Amino acid sequence: MPIHRLSQSLINKIAAGEVIERPASAVKELMENAVDARATRIHVDVVAGGTELIRIVDNGHGIPADELELALTCHATSKIEDADDLFRVGTLGFRGEALASIAEVSRLVLRSRTAEQPGGAQIEAAGGRLSEVGPCGAPVGTTVEVRDLFFNMPVRRKSLRAAQTELAHVKEAFTRIALALPSIDFALTHNDRPVVELAGTRGWLDRIAVLFGRELAENLIWVESEQSDVHLSGYVAHPSYTRSNNQTQYLFLNCRYIRDRSLQHALREAYRGLIMTGRWPIAFLNLAMPPEAVDVNVHPTKTEVRFHNGGHLYGQILSTIRNKFLATDLHARARTEDDPAEACDEAQAAKIRQELVGWAKGKVSDWEADEAREEGPDRQTAFDVESRSWSDPPLEITRLDRSWAPAGGHAASRGLPDGASSGAACSDGSREPRQTEVRTVGGPHSPRAVQFHNRYLVTESDEGLMIFDQHALHERILYEQLRARVASSRLETQSLLVPEPVDLAPAEAAAVIEHGETLERLGMKVEPFGGDTVLISGYPAMLANLNPAEVLRELLDPLMTAGAELDREDVFDRLLHTIACKAAIKAGDRLAPEEITTLLEQRHLVDNAHHCPHGRPTALVFSREDLDRQFKRI
Ligand code: ADP
Ligand code: MG
Repeated sequence: MPIHRLSQSLINKIAAGEVIERPASAVKELMENAVDARATRIHVDVVAGGTELIRIVDNGHGIPADELELALTCHATSKIEDADDLFRVGTLGFRGEALASIAEVSRLVLRSRTAEQPGGAQIEAAGGRLSEVGPCGAPVGTTVEVRDLFFNMPVRRKSLRAAQTELAHVKEAFTRIALALPSIDFALTHNDRPVVELAGTRGWLDRIAVLFGRELAENLIWVESEQSDVHLSGYVAHPSYTRSNNQTQYLFLNCRYIRDRSLQHALREAYRGLIMTGRWPIAFLNLAMPPEAVDVNVHPTKTEVRFHNGGHLYGQILSTIRNKFLATDLHARARTEDDPAEACDEAQAAKIRQELVGWAKGKVSDWEADEAREEGPDRQTAFDVESRSWSDPPLEITRLDRSWAPAGGHAASRGLPDGASSGAACSDGSREPRQTEVRTVGGPHSPRAVQFHNRYLVTESDEGLMIFDQHALHERILYEQLRARVASSRLETQSLLVPEPVDLAPAEAAAVIEHGETLERLGMKVEPFGGDTVLISGYPAMLANLNPAEVLRELLDPLMTAGAELDREDVFDRLLHTIACKAAIKAGDRLAPEEITTLLEQRHLVDNAHHCPHGRPTALVFSREDLDRQFKRI
């Protein structure tokens, strides 16, 4: 076939293929148009999940009669004028292709009236063929009716699902817009029956409560912060309130619903250690920033955007939520509420809590300081550890030195963390201790220490009493040691005699190859091996006890979520975290007395030992004075 120009109708159909996937996509585009027209009331009616009819009625500014035809023409918009406008989009739409696309693949009626017009005007389209514009009765505003979506694209039409499924997608599209704009009245009906009615409200929480239920709304915590030009605000759920998937994470950018893997990852990190593996945080967050700070023109449906400063946003979300959790002192709540005596002395309790929180916050502020430093010209790398003073770490990297462990005893039979439980250790799905035992160790040179519930170590210090989370402490120690070894090039690679092929998903293979150099710094040598298979030819010697393919798979998560926003050092740092987490002892592991001693002795070798790499505290401290006060001695 010789090269020829495609007909406009075919071009529109191709565009429609991208923008309009199912009834819900048309609902989204039409609702966005109503929002852009400054409507204060938007009603959506669908029949048979939107496959038979979608009707959107708004009271916005309307379209002048002489522009109706243009509104249905491809690449016609009133929202941007020149290329510069593309980089400061202040409306939800701007591509000028939604109406034309829908008109191409349905039977559409567009009725509208502006405040200046005495009456309404309407135009019809069927499979892209436009009628004449004629008069009609209509209030100020716009009504769009879309019937028989994809009637002229049988393959698409066939791929539509049952009405209930399509309705579920419509509801989700409706919810995303209704959530972003609480001051607008919205209503949705299906087959003439009301589904949702939302009266405009000033409070976001009210809207969330109507859409997601009172119970959820009552478990939300307000978070807010301002960094550079970015104002972050919204609600996150108390960590005891989670979902089994990540669908209840509503992130808005200047009131536009977006999905962003990196920011979702930041959210997950903020909850790390507070929720069980397999559970997902709930969040409703809005990022308000100057339109120039983001490129929304990267995705036909505009749900994915490109931030100019994604790394900062990641940090802002993580630190804002984390700080809030620390300040809310989620765990301490139970402690004070259970104790009537302490409740009497609220001020005292608050002060102690404040001290604890201030101390626990250390990590987040360190981390923020790192962020700030990044901006300076003499950016210090995250791996500038040479200046630190510590003796060569005696702790074996993958496990505690157990040469002294009783043969055949519990400690000896405990293997290294396996794939299934390693992730769990970072959250709380730790191994269940069947019996609870309290064991004390101590000697002339070591602090007396006790293991509780196979997960906490309690010891005496000069200041008072310290309680460690054994997994978090070990993870932190391993992390610091890994960093030190990398910095001093003492990280050895062990070549595999028989390189190991690993089959990956295409995106995973691409990420592994892209970050090949970073992986190599960790001693992990990976090469492409055709298709989506990669070949592991070298492996960090210190992880010799772990299965190379399994470790690579563990590393995929931080690699995949890295995206383009994170620089290589950040990616590398995340890989270190993952390895440290995987190699550390778990909550639920019973430790022999000598192991407890070794672990506690190691804490002096690392800075920041009171925080695990994820920023969650590894220890709580009660000073003697605190205790004296609590017991009313002073
Ligand atoms: P875009 O929203 O990207 O501009 P559309 O194809 O969705 O493109 O709409 C084309 C134009 O039609 C819009 O720019 C706007 O001027 C007008 N329009 C569409 N829907 C409405 C509406 N509900 N109220 C007022 N004007 C509308
Ligand atoms: Mg539009």
